[in-house]
Amino acid sequence: MDLRYIDKKDENRKVVKVKDVSIGDGDIVIIAGPCSVEDAEMILKTSRFVKGLGAVLLRGGAFKPRTSPYAFQGLKNEGLTYLKNASEATGMPVVSEVMDPRDVEFIYDYVDMFQIGSRNMQNFSLLREVGKTNKPILLKRGMAATIEDFLMAAEYIAYEGNDNIVLCERGIRTFENYTRNTLDITAVPILKQLCKLPVIVDPSHGTGRRDLVLPMSLASLAAGADGVMIEVHPVPEEALSDSEQSLSFEEFEQVSKRIMAVKSCFSDIRGI
Ligand code: PEP
Ligand code: MN
Repeated sequence: MDLRYIDKKDENRKVVKVKDVSIGDGDIVIIAGPCSVEDAEMILKTSRFVKGLGAVLLRGGAFKPRTSPYAFQGLKNEGLTYLKNASEATGMPVVSEVMDPRDVEFIYDYVDMFQIGSRNMQNFSLLREVGKTNKPILLKRGMAATIEDFLMAAEYIAYEGNDNIVLCERGIRTFENYTRNTLDITAVPILKQLCKLPVIVDPSHGTGRRDLVLPMSLASLAAGADGVMIEVHPVPEEALSDSEQSLSFEEFEQVSKRIMAVKSCFSDIRGI
């Protein structure tokens, strides 16, 4: 595999900084927030709650890549304003998806990290465009992408000059339909063997089921992941997207407490 900018040349792993948050330094990070920003109040409330439980980065989609054009598409510019306001109120950096190369410049001022979603993992013009910025990137694995496809997508970004990339395993499509996707936990140690970038796991999209978020978070961390990204909503049953996989505040509290409790047990796996 021809990796030139993200390869593991030496033992120094890349630590990606998102404002004052470090990803890949050996500590475990929790990224949490709703699938979509739905209004000003819910994002602020969620931000305050997850921060209180140890989450260090707030997530929330304003531009949503939905399967159906008739499904909620996100609040777009308005959503970004709500997200930025929540970030300023709580001091949490934010990550949000950019779907179109033409939006990169505009979204740049609202987010601390760009998310490239699964459906756009091989949108090469988008990869090049975010690669020209100095903003950290959360690159999600395409749902039918091999490890090589995934790493090559990251290489496109880094080739343009930006190697502040965090890889996110979020499940792949297989014949199994008991879960929304099949979470490929083997990708975690493999990606870490092959490149210098931090690797996190999204057990929410990876399973599509809220009851599987806790076990899959723990499994990911045991496999060496640098963190997890979890969808949380004040009233999951009423969420405008990804209702089935979103945790309530109470559920997130249980999950984050368990993660914090076992954190130190996994430190040798991540080399600290
Ligand atoms: C998301 O994070 O809300 C999302 C749309 O994820 P993915 O691109 O992994 O489906
Ligand atoms: Mn989602």
